[in-house]
Amino acid sequence: MARIVMKFGGTSVADLERIGNVARRVRAEVEAGNEVAVVVSAMAGVTNQLVGWCQALSPLHDAREYDAVVATGEQVTAGLLAIALQQQGVDSRSWLGWQVPVTTDDAHGKARIEEIEGAALIARMQSGQVPVVAGFQGLGPDRRVTTLGRGGSDTSAVALAAALRAERCDIYTDVDGVYTTDPRIVAKARKLDKIAYEEMLELASVGAKVLQTRSVELAMKERVRVQVLSSFEDVQGTLIPGGMLPGTLLVDEDEIVEKAIVTGIAYSRDEAKITVRRAPDRPGIAAAIFEALAGESVNVDMIVQNVSADGNTDVTFTVGRADLPRAQAALDEARARVGYAEVLADPDVAKISVVGVGMRSHPGVANTMFRTLAGKSINIQVISTSEIKISVLIGAEYTELAVRALHTAYGLDAA
Ligand code: ADP
Ligand code: ASP
Ligand code: MG
Repeated sequence: MARIVMKFGGTSVADLERIGNVARRVRAEVEAGNEVAVVVSAMAGVTNQLVGWCQALSPLHDAREYDAVVATGEQVTAGLLAIALQQQGVDSRSWLGWQVPVTTDDAHGKARIEEIEGAALIARMQSGQVPVVAGFQGLGPDRRVTTLGRGGSDTSAVALAAALRAERCDIYTDVDGVYTTDPRIVAKARKLDKIAYEEMLELASVGAKVLQTRSVELAMKERVRVQVLSSFEDVQGTLIPGGMLPGTLLVDEDEIVEKAIVTGIAYSRDEAKITVRRAPDRPGIAAAIFEALAGESVNVDMIVQNVSADGNTDVTFTVGRADLPRAQAALDEARARVGYAEVLADPDVAKISVVGVGMRSHPGVANTMFRTLAGKSINIQVISTSEIKISVLIGAEYTELAVRALHTAYGLDAA
């Protein structure tokens, strides 16, 4: 008998039939004698629609009201799954973020969980009830609903598993694990039985949407045993006899015997490129530009600065695509202070990243990447690196071509 948290993503609860299947899967874990808490996302497509409505009304909408709107999707699925479980004879109750409570900081739209009060849920679980917790949402210090950023129910699930001292956190989704790259764009992507926390963290942070970055960070810090599984296949979360894993397990780096140089490739079309043209090349200019953006809570990712001969310089960087209107407004406002000539914005870019702990000890990884892209006549606009990752910015139209070519070049293709 174990205490487990099961998380079901949007496609897994996309309609009533699938919610019924999810309930059967939960019931099987309960019947096996486990104490189960469930975390659910909104039905597939619902959050996108809610976000779209906010943006259509006002691109610079109030983040508190955005949260009031987008948190609703998870309320619906939490209630529906509780009904489906009751219908199948399983005692169940839905819980919204404020009821648990899941307290967060005040960063509306991208809040961080500060604490989860687990006692009430543990008492219910011990009495045989299954709490169904609405993912993605929390309660801010202003006593208003907050949301955790897109994909945030993964983080709700891992944080809940830590708070409940659960033995496992099973993330059920629409693929049967973490692959060498997104299996939806590379047919030859290979499923990984295990992946190191560090690698999963990098892959998630550069766009592999299978897990939200913050969920991996939390799992690593709180030592939560996380596995990614398909909710569409007939497997339960336990190990198959013989040590085979049905999905992908997150592990410490030293548990991986054969370390590949490159473990995975990720892409992100969620960034936009901004170039600040002809800013005076003197101390304090970068500070003035990035202070203006920080003042609007715009995160900046890749940065390059070109030196030019006439005392002016171009600074190019990327921001989240959703932040583009706010970034442009902030730069407009700072124009007199910075003294630049113009701002160019290009949303049609993609960031392609290769990740692997083996890079620490193997030179030439960047070289392979640049040569492969050159071979496909793909121009590299910006480059950034970390100890176990190399990222390049390219035109969005080359995303799939680049990912497939790199997947082959690093020997990741399935036989
Ligand atoms: P959920 O709604 O269950 O949270 P998501 O859409 O957020 O599901 O995440 C699952 C998706 O992540 C998959 O359908 C797949 O297209 C995408 N994905 C991107 N990179 C990877 C990867 N390396 N391995 C597996 N899936 C990936
Ligand atoms: N429903 C939210 C989203 O689409 C949270 C999640 O799915 O994890 O971003
Ligand atoms: Mg997700």
